[in-house]
Amino acid sequence: MIRHQIRLAAAAAACLVLAACSGPTSMEPPSVDVPTPLPSGIDFDPDVETAAPEECNALASYAPGAVTAEQARAQLDDDGRISIGISQSTNLMGYRDPETNALAGFDIDIATAIAEKLLGEGADIRWVPMTSSERVPSLDEDRVDMIVRTMTMTCDRWTEVEFSAEYYHAGQRLLVPKASGITGLADLTAEDLVCTGHGSTSVRTIAEQAESEMVTVPDYNDCLVLLQQGTVDAIAIDDTILAGMAVQDPTLHVVGEAFSDEPYGIAMQLGNTDLARFVNGALEDVIAEGTWQQAYDEWLEGPLAVEAAPPSPQYRD
Ligand code: GLU
Repeated sequence: MIRHQIRLAAAAAACLVLAACSGPTSMEPPSVDVPTPLPSGIDFDPDVETAAPEECNALASYAPGAVTAEQARAQLDDDGRISIGISQSTNLMGYRDPETNALAGFDIDIATAIAEKLLGEGADIRWVPMTSSERVPSLDEDRVDMIVRTMTMTCDRWTEVEFSAEYYHAGQRLLVPKASGITGLADLTAEDLVCTGHGSTSVRTIAEQAESEMVTVPDYNDCLVLLQQGTVDAIAIDDTILAGMAVQDPTLHVVGEAFSDEPYGIAMQLGNTDLARFVNGALEDVIAEGTWQQAYDEWLEGPLAVEAAPPSPQYRD
């Protein structure tokens, strides 16, 4: 700030000296070269996973069976309280409501409903905000009991965590300025720069499917500022997340068909199949009781402009 003021003052002094000999036009404000601020951790040349992905049925989780709430609670770090990894900055899915400062969104409603099946109404929940790439390590390092954070069930991730059955079916799309004329992935050229979140499934999808260059940021929400300031031409990530950004900035819109499948699962520590079975039973109840539909209608139906029903669970045993 002080450096900018010194540069401004020096430029103004130079202008006054010049004004003596070159007339009133030189009294125009000096043009100041202020660099465009960039988010920390931005990567203009991100690594892309090139190894062939694992193969499996990524949707198949563990049948509910007869795991009681008490048995499932014994799997938690502290059996009276559950730690849940979430996003606190993803509008519509997991964000801080500015009026109440409480967490709100579709993922928060699903997580709360599951926690209440496990611990009873008013369950003691410790919310742990995290970025996409912090999800797997936070389970590995025992920092959370489960993660409900727009997390796609992939075969690669099944080697690192246990997933519940699918609780939401998203797909990746593009968010662009309405004035850009871009209507979908096929319109992106090698000149375009697409932003996505480090540690998200979009990195691989964009590398495989788009002509354009890619930039990643640790928190995909920073893509929104980069798009608004014109540093990037589009954002690629799940339609749920993009819909939340479009609500925040009406000069932007979501375009094109979904170019990937992003089935969301609740992630738990590898080997904790008892908790996964209990969560799957709880999820069936949450769906049967209408809580899923209520959450969808409240958060996503309007912004996504489609009616949706909950996914049918698939079990491997
Ligand atoms: N659903 C995608 C994923 O799990 C993108 C969203 C995110 O990173 O949270 O990677």
